[in-house]
Amino acid sequence: MREERPVIIVGGGIAGIAAALHLAEHGRRVTLLETRTKLGGRATSFVDVRTGEAVDNCQHLAMGCCTNYLDLCRRLGVLDQIEWTHHTTWIEPGGRTSVLSRSLMPAPGHFGPSFLGVRFLDASEKVSLAACLGAALREDRRRHKGITLREWLLRHDQSPRVIDRFWSPVIVSACNLTVDRVCAATALHVFQEGFFAHRDAASIGVSRVPLARLYDRAEATIAAAGGEVRLSSGVERVWADRVLTTSGRTLEAESVVLAVPPERAARLIAPELAGVDPRFAAAGRITHSPILGVHLIFDRPVLTHPHAVLVDRPTQWLFRKDERGTKIHAVISAADDWVPLNESEITRRVVEDLHACIPASRAARVIASRPVKEKLATFAPTPEVERVRPGVTGASGVFLAGDWVSTGWPATMEGAARSGAMAAAAVLGLPERSLLRPPLQAALLARALATAPLHAD
Ligand SMILES: Cc1cc2nc3c(=O)[nH]c(=O)nc-3n(C[C@H](O)[C@H](O)[C@H](O)COP(=O)(O)OP(=O)(O)OC[C@H]3O[C@@H](n4cnc5c(N)ncnc54)[C@H](O)[C@@H]3O)c2cc1C
Repeated sequence: MREERPVIIVGGGIAGIAAALHLAEHGRRVTLLETRTKLGGRATSFVDVRTGEAVDNCQHLAMGCCTNYLDLCRRLGVLDQIEWTHHTTWIEPGGRTSVLSRSLMPAPGHFGPSFLGVRFLDASEKVSLAACLGAALREDRRRHKGITLREWLLRHDQSPRVIDRFWSPVIVSACNLTVDRVCAATALHVFQEGFFAHRDAASIGVSRVPLARLYDRAEATIAAAGGEVRLSSGVERVWADRVLTTSGRTLEAESVVLAVPPERAARLIAPELAGVDPRFAAAGRITHSPILGVHLIFDRPVLTHPHAVLVDRPTQWLFRKDERGTKIHAVISAADDWVPLNESEITRRVVEDLHACIPASRAARVIASRPVKEKLATFAPTPEVERVRPGVTGASGVFLAGDWVSTGWPATMEGAARSGAMAAAAVLGLPERSLLRPPLQAALLARALATAPLHAD
């Protein structure tokens, strides 16, 4: 008897792992091919030869609203490795600190009391920002796919200072693009789903273990569900019913899910299929935005908070990586200006930002610094890119997954997990959204005030 052909999944990042698990759990034979020696894709870690420590390529945050990503963590048995905080600390130059934390009030008013107390905005700025946040909640974001967030903010009378001090740090971190470039609909989605809908939505989850360890169990979990993972197995060419590996083997497939970044997808598709399926030309037009992560070790503690936003400084976030606060990780999203810099200049600038906001840190000496530049970190969710993000199905018959397909989410682990679930549903012939985990139930008041669905459309 001829053996059933597998569904071949190309790419073992979060999208590929999610697709493989969903398909295997639905009784399909899956074979996941990954070019690297481990799963996890861009959400990964490596051993820094200078210190011998396992460090992440960059700090990855999950939020309470990331229901599909968190469900994936649950199925991999690593949900308890995610550590949660329910507040953000904002530090201004000079060291003045404000905390935004959720109160017992229902969404969307849960941040209200702490918002009134923040010190990095004055009273009139808070009034103007509160009015604009109200507008953001009520807005039908689908009407604003063609403009940037800055254009939308200017229509709502936001001053440059409020944009720089509030909107920028939130949106640059969430979307990895500046307010001048990010699509307004994408940015509004972040606020609607990530802040207004539910009081747990904005809770911040970070991994207690190096990122790669979260996905260590994926191979065994996929195998336990009847699938197979082949590491160090690159793919060179893809059709709807077969793939050609870099070692020259043709593997026949029942279906193929291509779960690689857009520029790779455009290169891997068989030329005769690229012409009939416009999704691949679109993939080739998707542009990227860089992220810089800087690992720093000091000779004494410099950060007491688990994480902090630096107000009005180019370094956007600091994360404390040990109990004492001697190891910190600095993150600069939308880091175009930083990419040409060398390591010592990057370190100098980050330390300058640290000194500006945490004056006591001036006494500390840098023992080690390891900047990690990810030039192609994520796709850039500009209005132009949002217009061409493709669906999971198309005329070639090849299924697409990856954070860049049209999920309604920016480039995030949640977007990747969602795309995997959507591609798996399409392979199974189910409605595309049928395997998605439900979002956090939007609070009654948030639903009453909104004029359009708060959750991804
Ligand atoms: C520096 C940085 C910081 C980030 N911070 C956050 C954050 O805080 N929160 C958040 O939610 N998201 C964050 N992200 C985004 C998040 O990492 C991605 O959205 C997510 O990991 C994408 O998963 P994916 O499966 O779509 O793609 P990938 O992770 O890119 O997976 C694709 C896989 O395909 C493999 N592959 C490629 N070509 C082939 C081939 N020819 N044959 C076989 N395999 C192939 C690759 O090796 C890779 O493993 C960050 C990303 C970066 C880079």
